Amino acid sequence: MSVFDELRGMTSLRPLFLRHVAQTGPEPFLLEVDHASGIYIYDVKGMPYVDLNSGYCVSVLGHCHPRVVAAVQNQAATYMHTTVYGEHIQSPQVLLAKKLTEQLDSSLDCVFFVNSGAEAVEGAMKLAKRVTGRHEIIACHHAYHGSTQGADSLRSDIDYTSAFMPLLPGIRNIHFSSFDDLDLINEATAAVLIEPIQGEAGVRIADPGYLQALRKRCDETGALLMFDEIQTGMGRTGRFCAHQHDNIVPDVLLLAKSLGGGMPIGAFISRKTYLNQFTHNPVLGHLTTFGGHPVSCAAALATLEELLEKDFISKAELHAQRFISRLQHPKIREIRNVGLMMAVELQHDISLADFMHHALDHGILTDWFLFDKRSFRIAPPLIITEEEIDFVCDRLIDILDRLG
Ligand code: PLP
Repeated sequence: MSVFDELRGMTSLRPLFLRHVAQTGPEPFLLEVDHASGIYIYDVKGMPYVDLNSGYCVSVLGHCHPRVVAAVQNQAATYMHTTVYGEHIQSPQVLLAKKLTEQLDSSLDCVFFVNSGAEAVEGAMKLAKRVTGRHEIIACHHAYHGSTQGADSLRSDIDYTSAFMPLLPGIRNIHFSSFDDLDLINEATAAVLIEPIQGEAGVRIADPGYLQALRKRCDETGALLMFDEIQTGMGRTGRFCAHQHDNIVPDVLLLAKSLGGGMPIGAFISRKTYLNQFTHNPVLGHLTTFGGHPVSCAAALATLEELLEKDFISKAELHAQRFISRLQHPKIREIRNVGLMMAVELQHDISLADFMHHALDHGILTDWFLFDKRSFRIAPPLIITEEEIDFVCDRLIDILDRLG
């Protein structure tokens, strides 16, 4: 019996977790996970929780999808780490890069693999500086791009970042979907880094024509347009990437979260001529030891193939409409969605905190948004079935009925 089995058999791990594992807030969820499968996470007492949030937009095929598990197991038994990124030819990496770029415009033909979303942001910012020779980056108010110092620099909400100053200079924030603010993009701008649909702002969709106008302004000024599709990518919005709804092509595309189907991986994708610039002046322009880890790449490839072969992406909007039609309730003020990226805004006299606590008690894991304190998130695995949607909606309606 391992130490882990012993500890687990004897007592809850909660005190040890609180004692030895760093936390990020005063009230962690403290759900003690036993195992997870499909749309469910099971705690150590056997209680199932519907993961309506896909572990923060990660588990696009649900938990422990057999194809992803098999890919991980096979790759782990074949080889894991061999050397730093970009030196050895590893088939999971190569095949994943090929498959990913096949889903995109032909100009997005080269992938730099990293380990996380924030790392994709860091790499993309460096790429923009290297390609344009400029250093100013523009990002949106109420955007979240990660928590490393570069990604944190992009945030406008200094309540979260003032303790970590100084951050990067040369960052400016524009308002999402403001046509007027496009004038702030100029010949000094290296890049505009933006989510095509704002996630943490509470699923905010740009006004018609905005993303096209943004593309045009970047073209006029020579700034790179970089889409952070770390939440919106991998089919969540009903297209492989959200920008494909609008027929716009970014210069750099960022993916992470659901890319690995539950394994850690991120990527920034651009044209080969741009990414080649990391190879000289200076050589080794961007490095990572574990980026594009073969096991993560194998998981990502299996995830992508399953998503495409089973056509889960095209079902996202249909499933969303089922949620919307079943969640008609006087305590719901508005539902915003693109595919299964959804925000449900409660009436303003209803306590979102009470709702969330009741949901947890009833075995439903939803989530807050960082910058929208009136809405909760629905972003389930794309494999969710109609029966499961009905079951979840019945529970949510029941909770709303009981709320004071
Ligand atoms: N970009 C967006 C839109 C995100 O939602 C997140 C994480 O929530 C990130 C970037 C950062 O990703 P990671 O947590 O993998 O660093």
